[in-house]
Amino acid sequence: MAKAFDVLVIGSGPAGYVAAIRCAQLGLSTACVEKSPFLGGTCLNVGCIPSKTLLHSTEMYYKNKYDAKKFGVNCTGLSVDFPAMLSYKTQVVKTFQQGIEGLFQKNKITKYIGSASFLSSTSVEIDNGSEKTIVEARFVIIATGSEPISLPFLPFDQKRIISSTEALSLEKIPKKLVVIGAGAIGIELGSVYNRLGTEVVFIEFLDRICAFLDEPVSVELQKILEKQGMQFFLSSKVTKGEVINNGVQITALQKDDTEITFDADLALVAIGRKPYTQNLGLEKIGVLPNKQGRIEVDGQFRTGISNIFAIGDVIDGPMLAHKGSEEGVVVAELIAGQNPTLDYITIPNVVYSYPEVATVGLTEQEVKKLGIEYYAGTFPFMANSRAKCIGEEKGFVKIIGDKASDRILGMHIISAHASELIAVGVVAIKQKMTLTALAHTPMAHPTLAEAIKEAALAAQKRAIHR
Ligand SMILES: Cc1cc2nc3c(=O)[nH]c(=O)nc-3n(C[C@H](O)[C@H](O)[C@H](O)COP(=O)(O)OP(=O)(O)OC[C@H]3O[C@@H](n4cnc5c(N)ncnc54)[C@H](O)[C@@H]3O)c2cc1C
Repeated sequence: MAKAFDVLVIGSGPAGYVAAIRCAQLGLSTACVEKSPFLGGTCLNVGCIPSKTLLHSTEMYYKNKYDAKKFGVNCTGLSVDFPAMLSYKTQVVKTFQQGIEGLFQKNKITKYIGSASFLSSTSVEIDNGSEKTIVEARFVIIATGSEPISLPFLPFDQKRIISSTEALSLEKIPKKLVVIGAGAIGIELGSVYNRLGTEVVFIEFLDRICAFLDEPVSVELQKILEKQGMQFFLSSKVTKGEVINNGVQITALQKDDTEITFDADLALVAIGRKPYTQNLGLEKIGVLPNKQGRIEVDGQFRTGISNIFAIGDVIDGPMLAHKGSEEGVVVAELIAGQNPTLDYITIPNVVYSYPEVATVGLTEQEVKKLGIEYYAGTFPFMANSRAKCIGEEKGFVKIIGDKASDRILGMHIISAHASELIAVGVVAIKQKMTLTALAHTPMAHPTLAEAIKEAALAAQKRAIHR
């Protein structure tokens, strides 16, 4: 007889596993099915965690190589042990795979390994390659995530034409890498190899890098990355690519219609990700993905079928782990009869370059488009004492406030540890804080956070240290 649960979650990424835990906490009998042998999804296995581990290892090397001397630290004999770097990354990933296993056990969540496919709106078949199991559930949460997009004329071969997945586990450090797409993932992985001595060239279709960022922030980021040796070809469309002589040749058409050719060891295609719904049997329940491949949901994450929900990368919105996790909590609470809400304006977005970029709320360009009367204040880290002490003077904080209500609308930070500092902006926007209140909030001295307060003061034309 088929096993029956209150909730079956399909996919164990940050959206799915968090939804499963919250369902179980709320007293719902819960199962989670994952087609990969490991829990954690893209984020843990081939996304956020391995990339941040490699970014940290390479930043440590880079800073010691180029910056340590001015602090009186001599790093003669410094070298990279690339296999050891990869092995530390693998260890970190394994630790958290086991961590999620442990959380599933603690919360009495039944785990299935196998590929799930709908038989009906309450019945799912799980195929693990050797046997098929049928599971019944009153509610099903689809959290099947996303996969990298390839160029139609340049399919991934996992060797020379690679996606982020392969870039996280290369056998050796390439001499030259072409990165197609200068979004967050491309910039992060390009940074990893640039720091290890690879010549890194970006080809970007748009006229600026990380186009979702506030414009001056992305311009500043590009300038800093160029100083680190990365090269950018903007407004350039890749038109051709081939594997030749143990390498690749990529051709792009520039804005002025001139063609430019790049030879490299590898091409990393980082042009975005698309929702993943393959073999899910969606046609059997009449839930058809839209033109972008996303599953459409209503304000309560319900698909067209009232007991089937979808969350995470597979639905609309920024493809971010914490966005999926928040949705996971909300959907579990909805199923349990609660009335939770999720305010997307409070979802931060980070580029883990060096320095980092972190942003929450509206950009100045978005505020202008909405016709909101606003004021903006910026404060450079050059004028921040802690930044000077630790040699991290690059970057600035920019805060945007609504003139009428004084409410904070957006915060944009480019600096060391911006990913941590942005928490101030998230809380401020979530709590509907005013710029005046932030300007009057004490920050410990000396800290990078003082620059946030100063940016709020600057918006009111009363910065102290500028
Ligand atoms: C290199 C890289 C770096 C990133 N860095 C960050 C970052 O720093 N911060 C951030 O917020 N986001 C980051 N992301 C994005 C983040 O990884 C995703 O937004 C997040 O993983 C999406 O979570 P999810 O649960 O929706 O889907 P996923 O994590 O993709 O998980 C979906 C899971 O469902 C499983 N599945 C699919 N179909 C089936 C099926 N039929 N049956 C059973 N199981 C199935 C898949 O195997 C997968 O494990 C990064 C992504 C990449 C590629």
